[in-house]
Amino acid sequence: MNREDMRTLQSERLVKQVKHVYENVPYYRDLMDKKGITPDDIKGIDDLYKLPLLTKSDLRDAYPYGLLAVPVKDCVRIQSTSGTTGKRVVAFYTQNDIDLWENCCARAIVAVGGDENDVCQVCYGYGLFTGGPGLNGGSHKVGCLTLPMSSGNTERQIQFMMDLGSTILCCTPSYAAYIAESLKEAGYKPEDNKLRVGIFGAEPWTEEMRHDIEAALGIKAYDIYGLTETSGPGVAFECEEQSGMHINEDHFIAEIIDPDTGEVLPEGSKGELVFTSITKEAFPLLRYRTRDICVLTREKCSCGRTLVKMSKPMGRSDDMLIIRGVNVFPSQIETVLLKEGYAPNYQIVVDRVNNTDTLDINVELLPEQFGDTVKETAAYEKKLAESIKTMLGINPKVHLLAPKSIARSEGKAVRVVDKRKLH
Ligand code: ADP
Ligand code: ZN
Repeated sequence: MNREDMRTLQSERLVKQVKHVYENVPYYRDLMDKKGITPDDIKGIDDLYKLPLLTKSDLRDAYPYGLLAVPVKDCVRIQSTSGTTGKRVVAFYTQNDIDLWENCCARAIVAVGGDENDVCQVCYGYGLFTGGPGLNGGSHKVGCLTLPMSSGNTERQIQFMMDLGSTILCCTPSYAAYIAESLKEAGYKPEDNKLRVGIFGAEPWTEEMRHDIEAALGIKAYDIYGLTETSGPGVAFECEEQSGMHINEDHFIAEIIDPDTGEVLPEGSKGELVFTSITKEAFPLLRYRTRDICVLTREKCSCGRTLVKMSKPMGRSDDMLIIRGVNVFPSQIETVLLKEGYAPNYQIVVDRVNNTDTLDINVELLPEQFGDTVKETAAYEKKLAESIKTMLGINPKVHLLAPKSIARSEGKAVRVVDKRKLH
């Protein structure tokens, strides 16, 4: 679709969507009223900037039903974010919303050459997480033979992959690397599998990682992007050119804003990505701040698609870390430390070793613990690690250090050292 037709389509859908939200979501209506905006002020996409921005904290304030735009009886499903306590986001879907989402994922599969002859192994997590259900639905729509594996049980993944001749692999890039490593350990060479392409996303990964995975599995590896708030994966997907992800603009209008001022930035600027969903019924977020920092480009793509492309996310405008696919806020770790009686002097060190994220937490011993035996210290470390695991859902390595050994900062404390070099 040419640019002009797309803008017309987006404008029509936006006008309708703003009315739908204004009439059915008191929470957002209040935000619009506070700004002195009514649906009549939104005549098309050029008026988008007038609408209030939404953030994750709005989602928390309105939890669970406050942003729902249709009666519960019209909803058929919920999904939820990677599942960190206190930060959970619940998204609702009507049957149309599910179809729309699965169609977006189907486009991602078609863009890498997928069709009904393919055997598509989906090893994103199933359940509340959007990865599994999204790609599973997309694979069905394309007509691939779908293997709903979910994540984990790598031995079984390999057995099915080999026995059934999987041609498409869908999972996080770190899990793809792990599967590749396990295949090698089991004595398989890259040419022994029938895989052709991989569709990997849900977490940041580098070009180097792409090349490693491509070589290790003998495939082409493509990126896919999305977030629970906008439905899940498939908001944007890579085409054969492998240089940025096309955004499904007929469903999601993308803007780039200055994360500090909220001002819309000119095309080609680096800033925070904001999405407005113009076709969703149940959970239609308008101007939702993703916190992902990236650049949009309208340069012509060799694949022929005219959809705008987003760069790989280059970082986030909040302090959220994604560790082994789980959203982690440093404040959650701090909460546990304080609850367990430790001082708030700590450092979180994240790294990626053999394509798996590691999480190390350095904490200072309490003065009364200092001088205890090594065995006692090890027991404290274990207890603290368990409490943090309960909070985050992932296992950290805790190191208790001598009091005063963590450098004090004179400005903003450097709480997080991320050595993963993902950007
Ligand atoms: P999911 O359930 O897919 O993990 P979440 O809503 O928990 O979705 O997390 C969404 C966030 O994951 C995005 O805002 C972004 O930071 C990150 N993300 C998703 N896909 C990618 C990708 N392809 N590359 C980098 N980061 C990604
Ligand atoms: Zn393209």
